[in-house]
Amino acid sequence: MPEQLPVDVEALRERAVAFVDDVLRPADAALASGGPEAGSRVREASKEAGFFYMTQPEEFGGRPGTSLELTVLRELFAAANLQSSRFVFGPGPGVLHAAEGSLREHYLLPVLRGEKRGAFGFTEPDSAPRPTWAKLDGDHLFMTGQKSYVTGGATADFVSVLLNVENADGSKAGTAMVAIDRTAEGVSIDREFASMEGGGHVAMKFDNVKVPVAHVVGKIGEGMPRALGNIGNVRLLVSAQAVGMCQFVLGFVEAHLRKPHRSGVPLGDREGVRMRYADMRIDTYAARSTLYRTARIVDSGDNSVNEVIACKVFCTETAGRVVDGGVQLIGGQALVKGHPLEALYREVRSLRLVEGASDLLRINLIKGKLELEKGRV
Ligand SMILES: Cc1cc2nc3c(=O)[nH]c(=O)nc-3n(C[C@H](O)[C@H](O)[C@H](O)COP(=O)(O)OP(=O)(O)OC[C@H]3O[C@@H](n4cnc5c(N)ncnc54)[C@H](O)[C@@H]3O)c2cc1C
Repeated sequence: MPEQLPVDVEALRERAVAFVDDVLRPADAALASGGPEAGSRVREASKEAGFFYMTQPEEFGGRPGTSLELTVLRELFAAANLQSSRFVFGPGPGVLHAAEGSLREHYLLPVLRGEKRGAFGFTEPDSAPRPTWAKLDGDHLFMTGQKSYVTGGATADFVSVLLNVENADGSKAGTAMVAIDRTAEGVSIDREFASMEGGGHVAMKFDNVKVPVAHVVGKIGEGMPRALGNIGNVRLLVSAQAVGMCQFVLGFVEAHLRKPHRSGVPLGDREGVRMRYADMRIDTYAARSTLYRTARIVDSGDNSVNEVIACKVFCTETAGRVVDGGVQLIGGQALVKGHPLEALYREVRSLRLVEGASDLLRINLIKGKLELEKGRV
């Protein structure tokens, strides 16, 4: 439980609480008044405090946090609901984790130094004649296809793309993850669009793009496991964000319920309102308990695929209900553009789709149970 953290993790949490007040709140105020350097100030302060390195591997100078530590921090930063918290953690290696040779020099190391930024091309459009594929010819792959939802693809330096590889004789060689420069010949942006929470994305096309086999992450045939290699950690991250959002909403609504209301009675004095607010708190308590239990199972090294799936579905769906409940209790003000709950309402919806849509995760969970006998859920 979050209440029974080991002493060192509790100390980390306290440092993070101070960081929110001393660094992030002033940085958010600076960002709001257009101060462009606020992000780099947060980054520098985070390096000094050690948070920055907690998402980076040791071999690259990082000091990776445990799942419990990262969960504590991510929940706390999300609960503060500050824009500047996105600058706290250093870039992680993502799917390039085990990159070697030119892949490491050209992509992985610049990413970890913050000099290059990658995007991730996984989702295929419904209209494609076939999923993105490549023909193997000597030392090169010749890649053709489309990806429909590449976040940050318009400005990324490169894209890590999942594709199916075919040998020269047309036989299947399996899936592969490849890194390609966004400006490589044959790569084009079909469409740019924004999603409701503010993210910017592109649909990309690949027309016979020549990719050195050296830019395959790992080996051909390992594409899908590589693409999903870090997915458990990312799902736990999303869960912590969702629970942090719940915490923010609870605090915000509590303050509102204590305030005078035009009816002459604070809303918090009304039993019907109390019932609604109690449900929001009960939901959050359950999600938070699930989150911390799951982080500890991940740290134990046990297989935790099903637990993380359950946690992601439960925490993100709970956050959807809690944010919605918050909007209902605040009333029309919460829907005015610029209100914190208006922004959260848009933001929380995407969490049930990213990193595994809820229904597909449910299906995976039951496959794990009925077909593989895995997990405690
Ligand atoms: C903010 C945001 C950022 C994103 N960033 C990226 C990115 O950087 N890179 C990337 O590659 N993608 C990205 N995506 C895309 C995201 O991964 C997909 O939206 C998600 O995987 C769902 O796929 P889909 O949209 O094609 O929907 P579909 O797969 O068509 O699913 C839609 C719905 O259909 C139902 N469904 C689908 N299949 C089944 C089934 N087999 N059985 C039962 N029900 C089913 C489910 O209810 C599901 O929610 C992003 C999406 C969002 C919202």
